[in-house]
Amino acid sequence: MEREILEELYALRTRVAELEQEKQNWQKQQESQEQQQEQILQEHEHRSQLGEEFAQHAGRIENDQSLALEVVFNTITDGLAVYDREGQIVRTNQAWKQMLGTYMQPDFEHQSVEERGKSVRLRDEQGQPLAPELWPVRRFLNGEVIASGDLADVTFLTLDGRHIQIDISGAPVRDNTDTIVGAVAVFHDVTLRRQIAQRTEDILDTFLAMAEVLVQGIGQSEDEDFAPGSQVHQLLCSLMKLGQRITLCDCIGITLVNRDTAVLNPIAVVGMAPQAMQQWQRALAHQPLSSYFLPAQLARLQRGNVVIINPLQARSDYLLVPMLLGSDLIGVMSLDYGAQTKYFSPEKLSLSTAVAKLITLILERERMLQERSDARTNELALLEANRRMDEFLGIASHELLTPLTTINGNIQLAKRRVKSLLTELSAEIARPQLDKLALTEELLKRAERQVRIQNRLVGDLLDVSRIQANRLDLHMQDCDLGTIVINAIEDLRSAAAERVIRLRNLPATGVFPPLPIYADSDRIGQVLINLLTNALKYSAADRPVEVSVHFDSERAVVKVRDEGPGLPAEESARLWERFYRVPGITIQSGSGVGLGLGLHICRTIIERHNGTVGVDSIVGSGSTFWFELPLATSASEAGDTEAEA
Ligand code: ADP
Repeated sequence: MEREILEELYALRTRVAELEQEKQNWQKQQESQEQQQEQILQEHEHRSQLGEEFAQHAGRIENDQSLALEVVFNTITDGLAVYDREGQIVRTNQAWKQMLGTYMQPDFEHQSVEERGKSVRLRDEQGQPLAPELWPVRRFLNGEVIASGDLADVTFLTLDGRHIQIDISGAPVRDNTDTIVGAVAVFHDVTLRRQIAQRTEDILDTFLAMAEVLVQGIGQSEDEDFAPGSQVHQLLCSLMKLGQRITLCDCIGITLVNRDTAVLNPIAVVGMAPQAMQQWQRALAHQPLSSYFLPAQLARLQRGNVVIINPLQARSDYLLVPMLLGSDLIGVMSLDYGAQTKYFSPEKLSLSTAVAKLITLILERERMLQERSDARTNELALLEANRRMDEFLGIASHELLTPLTTINGNIQLAKRRVKSLLTELSAEIARPQLDKLALTEELLKRAERQVRIQNRLVGDLLDVSRIQANRLDLHMQDCDLGTIVINAIEDLRSAAAERVIRLRNLPATGVFPPLPIYADSDRIGQVLINLLTNALKYSAADRPVEVSVHFDSERAVVKVRDEGPGLPAEESARLWERFYRVPGITIQSGSGVGLGLGLHICRTIIERHNGTVGVDSIVGSGSTFWFELPLATSASEAGDTEAEA
């Protein structure tokens, strides 16, 4: 039993130990649960603390963001406006308020769309009132999204009375259900940009208009100067008005400088009252350039620089702009800016220089056109004078030829009578009467020579008038040049028996080989006689004159050489002109006279035969005048011959 009790006790003690262990475990568990709870509590506390901090922080962020938004909203230079679904303004920025001048009407922002629209009188780009359904806010609220530049610029009359051009963009604002609940609009002021664009366009137009005038000119102007009302003056004034438009001055005046006398000549002014204009003209007219402007001003103008004048007592400030043609100062353009701003921007200065340059070119062009038209008028007058002279020469030579022929006939008759008296009655009449008859015969011979000279002069006049009228008839036939040359020399030898006229290079046979030409033999003879007469006339009586003939199979050249004064090279072309006589060349022998027609006739005749004329001369050594003609068929023997007559 004891054993049982002992066993019982032992079991109890074990059980107690187990319970003790359980209790300890439970306590431990309890403790750890408490610790956990504590931790949870602490954590909870911490969390709620963090939550609070977080909430505070989040609030701060939200505040900061809306502040930042506000700042951004107001610092944007474009106007911003937010509308509700009715188009009432919910919010605007500073730029918008300034743009529309709302300080003049603080309740403007609270007005309805209609009221606001009436106040700002919206207009389209053409200046036409904008229909209410086209007002931008209406279009946004109707769901339209308009990007910048999509809409033509809209003109607003601001509340402080300015007209501004606005480029409007914007879009509707929608909620979660896609319903339009308002709109946002951006107002971009393009007034200045448009003004600049307009001004640039104006300037361009003006320069183009000027350039057009420069290219076209004013056509056939009858005006001789810049007389007010004249065509040139009107053109100038219209150019100056264009210039006034782009330089933005009150008035422009142009003063030219006389190129010969350097005296001023105020020619045109625009934008000035008539009385002031007269004063301006009086002040400038006839003033010497150098005394009217100060030396420093003049130096600047001549260097092409603009001079800004603002004397203390002056009514206004003005610019003096040089009008330069190359390096010549041909005028001065003055621009008066009246009571306007005294600031002359570089743009203003360079624009005025450009205007002055264009006007200078246009004036120069007109001057040259005028000169050309004057020259043309003079040319026409000269042609007319020549025509009349030719007409007169034609009539005069005809009128002179008839009496000359009669005189010549009578002289020949008288000569024959005297001759027969002398031969028939020489034995019967006394010596003094015979001497008188011999003297009469001599006088008649002199008269005959004079008539021959007159005849030749009248013949030349007649020929020249025929040449001018294109009526110099040639009787062309086959003839021989050698024969013409020999006959002409014979004629001259008998007319001037006292002179030596040599024919060089005549073959030993005494005749030239055939030199066939198809020509008017009288006219070719006339040419040779003319050259020979000149050679005799312009050389001393004791000097010989030589003729030579040269030929090849195609051409023949006849040369007349004298030992006269010779001619400077520069005269060799001119002496073939009508009425031209070489200065300083005088007739040295014989009683010939000269009209300056002979060589002109010679050249015309030879050229009409397809030949050429020329002169080789050395001053002091004599001259060789020559003409060359084509041979009709090839000559039998080509080359020069060497014999002399
Ligand atoms: P003119 O009737 O005056 O001789 P021409 O037409 O025959 O007219 O000659 C024109 C000019 O050429 C002459 O006036 C003269 O000055 C010059 N001249 C012509 N032939 C000669 C010459 N052989 N020697 C020098 N000068 C000449």
